[in-house]
Amino acid sequence: MKNPNLNSVLNKEEFDKRDIIYMLSLTDKNEVENLYYRANEVRKEFCGDDVHLRGIIEFSNYCEQDCLYCGLRISNDALPRYRMTKDEILATVEHIHKAKIFTVVLQSGEDFSYTKEFISDLIREIKLNYGLAITLSLGERGFEEYLEWKNAGADRYLLKHESANKKLYSAIHNKQSLDERIKHLVYLKSIGFQVGSGNIIGLPGQTPDDIADDILLCKSLINDMASFSPFIPSNDTPLCNVSKADVQLTLKTMAVARIVLKDAHIPSTTALGSLIEGGREKGLEVGANVVMPNYTPNPYRQNYKIYEGKICVTDDPLACSGCLKFKIESIGRKVGESFGHSLK
Ligand code: SF4
Repeated sequence: MKNPNLNSVLNKEEFDKRDIIYMLSLTDKNEVENLYYRANEVRKEFCGDDVHLRGIIEFSNYCEQDCLYCGLRISNDALPRYRMTKDEILATVEHIHKAKIFTVVLQSGEDFSYTKEFISDLIREIKLNYGLAITLSLGERGFEEYLEWKNAGADRYLLKHESANKKLYSAIHNKQSLDERIKHLVYLKSIGFQVGSGNIIGLPGQTPDDIADDILLCKSLINDMASFSPFIPSNDTPLCNVSKADVQLTLKTMAVARIVLKDAHIPSTTALGSLIEGGREKGLEVGANVVMPNYTPNPYRQNYKIYEGKICVTDDPLACSGCLKFKIESIGRKVGESFGHSLK
């Protein structure tokens, strides 16, 4: 490495905010490559070569929230809405199980028409019939609901904080508060969920300082999973004219997050694959160790439209895991054959 300062930072055990901003601000091609190389080393040391597949079912695109960046926001009247029935969800779980994927991610907007009891029954049936690990990604729900779902057998909860900057959080979430989001994350962790959070890279007004805080917040929450995904604008939202996230900043953020968070599961997101061709493979090479094949069936999958240009929405969902397995092996990694639970 040419820059002795870079070398000493990359090899530190603990990182402060200044170190993180320094790593995020690298622009020299060789230095950025060194950052990626180090992230890949840390991934290998703490997570091994396995890439864990999580089969995702986006079972409802109704949402009561009005996040400025999201195509699912309640005030987007242009989006055709859908809700999957329990039988449809379970039939999709069956496909995930048959594909030898060990985790199902049940994701929706904040849709309270799916009651506490409905979700609990669903969790119990999936556990009983398929024995899969279950990740819930249902937005901010009640503390009683979280507890009941944990007791029903759910393993993990994904609730991204999106931005650790209080002002920015409030601006993009219709005046809601970051403190409240953090309360939910702390509670979820306290009742035994493996918890995932993370940010959106490229929000208007976001600074490297904010991204450093995002990574440090994931660290302080002892996140088992952390997702750093690029902003891509969605039509019919207030942010429709904002530019997409910068590819290099997205990859640098993932790499820095790996170096700082060490053993957290970090997905290479579908949004990254939508931002740049081969994005998911690239993400796996800069620190990620999780990919989430989309099993949402037709005709619904094209309408889970958080942003424009999402890849694979017209593909046969049953072909997704085979395609991803091929891509994973083509970069010299292997598909995990375990539940891929928290490494903490
Ligand atoms: S980001 Fe989540 S909570 Fe916000 S509008 Fe979209 S689906 Fe709803």
